[in-house]
Amino acid sequence: MKRVFSGIQPTGHVTLGNYLGAMRRWAEVDQHRADSLFCIVDLHALTVDHDPARVQRLSRQTATLLLAAGLDPGLCTLYVQSHVGEHTRLSYLLECVAGDGEMRRMIQYKEKSARERERGGSVRLSLLTYPVLMAADILAFGTEEVPVGDDQVQHVELARDLAVRFNQRYGHTFVVPKASLPGVAARVMNLQNPTSKMGKTDAGQGVVYLLDEPDVVRKKVLRAVTDSGRDVVYDREGRPGLTNLLEILAACTGGNPESLASVYDSYGSLKKDTAEAVVEVLRPVQARHRELCADPVYVEGVLRDGAEKARELARPRVDTAYRAIGLLPPA
Ligand code: ATP
Ligand code: MG
Repeated sequence: MKRVFSGIQPTGHVTLGNYLGAMRRWAEVDQHRADSLFCIVDLHALTVDHDPARVQRLSRQTATLLLAAGLDPGLCTLYVQSHVGEHTRLSYLLECVAGDGEMRRMIQYKEKSARERERGGSVRLSLLTYPVLMAADILAFGTEEVPVGDDQVQHVELARDLAVRFNQRYGHTFVVPKASLPGVAARVMNLQNPTSKMGKTDAGQGVVYLLDEPDVVRKKVLRAVTDSGRDVVYDREGRPGLTNLLEILAACTGGNPESLASVYDSYGSLKKDTAEAVVEVLRPVQARHRELCADPVYVEGVLRDGAEKARELARPRVDTAYRAIGLLPPA
């Protein structure tokens, strides 16, 4: 069976972008067709200014939401990155094949480091090396496919480059992975600022959270910034606000954003239907989340078993990489 790996950071409350771009496919498609691992990548959440207690809380909440979204521990492995030492063990070796120039070229590094500087903070070295740890997350498991949103494609490509480079220098060790993207909603945009991605670190009315109450969702969608002009057309460049709503509606109803555009003749009716479609998609996830919150021991058990399984799966390949690169095996 194909090996699939993907992760989500406990940097904030899970958003509609995370759900439509990644999580929903993990639950509805990937776990059924592949030998898949899904990881709460908590080490990555330490690459920007963070509150320790909040990261812990969000790690638990994100795990609970992933189960609520339909991940089934009988079908996939769900665990927390810091519980499995193989990630950081491998990351160091990959730092020894990666160049600093290629790290500085990463779009996410440029954006997030600029944001940290704007806030008057310093940029953590781990923010620069983040894609190397992400490559280790992926390569440790012999991953073939990485289901992610559009913003992570560059990082998956780096993981490919590092796998190829390591294999060429030190002998075949890693499977070369590739990213897989959803057909629609691969990049859900901020409702208030439709030229930026909806991200869980950005607070405000432009971000729909998975746990938003129906009325909050309605308010945010109805207040979404739309473009000048009256007709409803699908045009990512010229009409980003409208196109974002069409993409969200299509992702929630299983339709096609371009053909949906011809169904609507006013922004108001498009917004109304989009709001209701989002509310309906979130409803069952929120209901399961409430049930799971009543059973934290179950969630802890899932994470404990998941970490054990992930450790066993990763260790042999990481050990092989240690020998291949020239490190003496312990006696
Ligand atoms: P942060 O702002 O902390 O980076 P994030 O919202 O980008 O948070 P991540 O944990 O970095 O979330 O990403 C988890 C998954 O969600 C990744 O596969 C990523 O590509 C996907 N994703 C994130 N934002 C969006 C979005 N707006 N649209 C589609 N997919 C998204
Ligand atoms: Mg992100």
